[in-house]
Amino acid sequence: MCKITVYTNAEIFTQDPLNPRVNSLAVACNEIIDAGESLENKYLGAKIVDLNGATVIPGFIDTHLHLKWLALQKQWINLSGTRSIEELLSKLKEAKTPWIIGRGFNEKFFSEEKMPTRHDLDEAFPEKPVLIVRVCGHIGVANTQLLKKVGLWDNPEVIEGVEIDSSGKPTGVLKEKALEFVLEKTPKPPLKQYIEFMESVLNELLSKGLTTVASMNTDPLEFYVLQSIDTPLKVRVFFDVKYLETLSKLMIKGSFGNEKLRVKGVKIIGDGSFGGKTAALRHNYVGTEGKGELLITSSALENIVSEAKKLDMLVAVHAIGDRAIEEILNVKESLLGNIRIEHCSLTPPDIVEKLSEKRVFALSVQPHFRISDTWLPKVIGESSKYAYMFYTLSKKGLLVSFSSDAPVEPFDPLVNLEAAISEEGVGERVPISEALKMYTKNGSLALNEKDKGVLKKGYKADFVILSRNIFREKPSEAKVIATIIEGKIAYGKIP
Ligand SMILES: [Zn+2]
Ligand SMILES: [Zn+2]
Repeated sequence: MCKITVYTNAEIFTQDPLNPRVNSLAVACNEIIDAGESLENKYLGAKIVDLNGATVIPGFIDTHLHLKWLALQKQWINLSGTRSIEELLSKLKEAKTPWIIGRGFNEKFFSEEKMPTRHDLDEAFPEKPVLIVRVCGHIGVANTQLLKKVGLWDNPEVIEGVEIDSSGKPTGVLKEKALEFVLEKTPKPPLKQYIEFMESVLNELLSKGLTTVASMNTDPLEFYVLQSIDTPLKVRVFFDVKYLETLSKLMIKGSFGNEKLRVKGVKIIGDGSFGGKTAALRHNYVGTEGKGELLITSSALENIVSEAKKLDMLVAVHAIGDRAIEEILNVKESLLGNIRIEHCSLTPPDIVEKLSEKRVFALSVQPHFRISDTWLPKVIGESSKYAYMFYTLSKKGLLVSFSSDAPVEPFDPLVNLEAAISEEGVGERVPISEALKMYTKNGSLALNEKDKGVLKKGYKADFVILSRNIFREKPSEAKVIATIIEGKIAYGKIP
């Protein structure tokens, strides 16, 4: 028998509709055994933890972020907030690594009002390979040295997405697959350092109240690194779809692993981003002839999903534009239940209708895009009023889970919650109670797990103790006092 601990004198929001608010929780071993009022009087002899009126919610679950890039970026230059190409170049000059990589710039905020090219980078860095990655993570710019090192200078046609100038040479701009191709070829830190970077990322996530996270586009090295770390944080992985064949040969199932680290499925990219004008729209981008790029077809997707389904794996499909979402919905109904749509950003009324009729497994959406993408009307026009319809989609019965897509957006759930409930921003605001559900209970369900995200008998004792009541005050003003996973303190201190 495990010893019982009663956490009491708290404002506890359980996510259990039959018992939504209590002041105490009883925990034994790794599970919640009771949620109710003053349970210290019921479980005599239990260890009592007085939370002094703090707020308790289920642990946050982020259903889509990129652990690999969070870890590897520890050695990159942070370019977010740069206001000109000149400032960007001076920041890059601080780098001490043999290859210089910067990330997070947004040319929409540059005084030059243009995308940098290899010429800008070449002037400042004629010798060293340099790559800068846009805030969206889907577009980058490389200098000539780097293009030469990875073989794209002479053979830009080997991969899709290398922008070419009138003389037939790369402009330096790399989109989607081309950027991925180049990033894969950039030098990785030594294994020991990679593990240290990853450990520090996982600790940062714990400090923000996250108890489960799903890492997308995982590759074998990232998986190896994750296996090498002993952390209380629960990590779920969606391998990059290019490993599906290997997973299939090895007959690895979509439940393989343990409570700490578990395989969930594969991830595939269906289109690009609004910022890069590469998300597949049904209409033209403002002032252009382009509708973005569809990177999947429903029939190709059917093949992938049927293969994944044999292994009980989910297929997470990145789809931002309405045309990409529509393409997914053309997939045979018997396979839709294995598809999770990532982003699902642009949903005009007919798409909302179709989504509610056809029922994909779940959605993983990013509330912080509401705050970051205030330029959206200028880029996609009128239809931007149908972007980020999280609340509508949820009311239509879809399983909507929240995620950060970090490092694209910050991973702090309290910051993301504030973006979700904000009156400003693109798209719909979500009421706090619904937003919290999307970040906890729905997150667990969107990972096909039914024992987390609710503070109720039989569920895992994964919860967060907050300094303030986020139902009454701004979420961003609350602090995480402690993160508890399976009844143990994973971060912080309890008074
Ligand atoms: Zn994506
Ligand atoms: Zn992503």
